Amino acid sequence: MAATMRRAFRARYVFPVAGPPIEGGVLTVEGQRIVAVGTTADGDVQDVTDFGNAAIIPGIVNAHTHLEFSDLTAPLSQPGVPLADWIRAVIAWRRECRGDVGSAVHRGVRESQMHGTTALGEIATAGWGTDDPGVKATLESAALGTVVFRELIGLRAASVPGRLTDAQAFLNIKPKYDRWRHGLSPHAPYTVHPELLRQCVELAATNRLPVAMHLAETREELELLAGGTGPLRRLLEELGQWEEGVLARGSRPLDYLREIVKAPRALVIHGNYLADDEVEFLAEHAATMSIVYCPRTHAYFGHDEYPLAKMLRRGVHVALGTDSRASNPDLNLWEEMRFVAERGTIAPAVVLEMGTLAGARALARGGEIGSLERGKFADFCAFALPVDKAREPHEWLLDRAAKLVAAYWRGESNA
Ligand SMILES: [Zn+2]
Repeated sequence: MAATMRRAFRARYVFPVAGPPIEGGVLTVEGQRIVAVGTTADGDVQDVTDFGNAAIIPGIVNAHTHLEFSDLTAPLSQPGVPLADWIRAVIAWRRECRGDVGSAVHRGVRESQMHGTTALGEIATAGWGTDDPGVKATLESAALGTVVFRELIGLRAASVPGRLTDAQAFLNIKPKYDRWRHGLSPHAPYTVHPELLRQCVELAATNRLPVAMHLAETREELELLAGGTGPLRRLLEELGQWEEGVLARGSRPLDYLREIVKAPRALVIHGNYLADDEVEFLAEHAATMSIVYCPRTHAYFGHDEYPLAKMLRRGVHVALGTDSRASNPDLNLWEEMRFVAERGTIAPAVVLEMGTLAGARALARGGEIGSLERGKFADFCAFALPVDKAREPHEWLLDRAAKLVAAYWRGESNA
């Protein structure tokens, strides 16, 4: 297709997310970019697609996943499993059952595309792009954009230099096409030496990269930070990773927030058990810090109710993620949005924003994707709307009877 070809996409509603829904909306696209959003096509349009009784929305952004688990047909262990036991199950699965990581990533990308996802925040483990070139090739040919956060795990002091070398080696891998970008992920407080975290954040700051860290995921993590005790301590001992004195007694998630805020952008994954002053800290730094809530993974582990309404009220920037198929039945971010919407406490318009523009901003891509605005990439999808009209357009869109009928990435159909 010629880069200058101008096309129009019409539907009962266009949801730009950056503004209110437009009834009888038209999206005009030229090449990879949006050139206009309104009620009429802009300029000399060569082709018109009319989706009829449907809604055009921005491409969906899944801000947190681990695609290496995409071959799993069901989550590991059983609902309500304590995190330490789930980690044991992950380790056993990696040792005994894991197949080819490249093909799992490929499958995860295809599944994501099928559900209208056009951008991913992916956590990548050791070997990414070096001894497993299949993963890099998959992301470079995929019709979606990925921020690849290289995961760093090393709680013992002796492991710090090696992990930093790994991080640097990852940063030296250059994307062949503009389809993926670098990020760093110091995994979690119970797996990362404070010095590794400090230097990792410094590396991110120097290279202008986002950082993603699992934080305040369980009460056991808080217990370990506070007193060096509990199920996570036992797990670390079993794995030969526990070293007395590495985690200062009386530590808490706030100490970690104060460190990762030094990165240009920080994603706090989960944050299920943040204290009030920690939520306040995130609200104060909402311009560069985001929480990534993974609703069905949160439910799988049987955590206390997620303080989503409180976070939003305080002004915390909240994006959504599926997490992996090791704790979630699928990689369908739209299902996470419906899951939140169906609980009825969050306005559907806010749910739509969390699954699109908020995710894009969390991944430091808010200037290019996440909403339908002139100049942004033409990443969008169309949902056929139910016959019965709901009271409010967002409610109509998030109705379980609405069905994805098309998805576009940079102006090209993703089907
Ligand atoms: Zn995760």
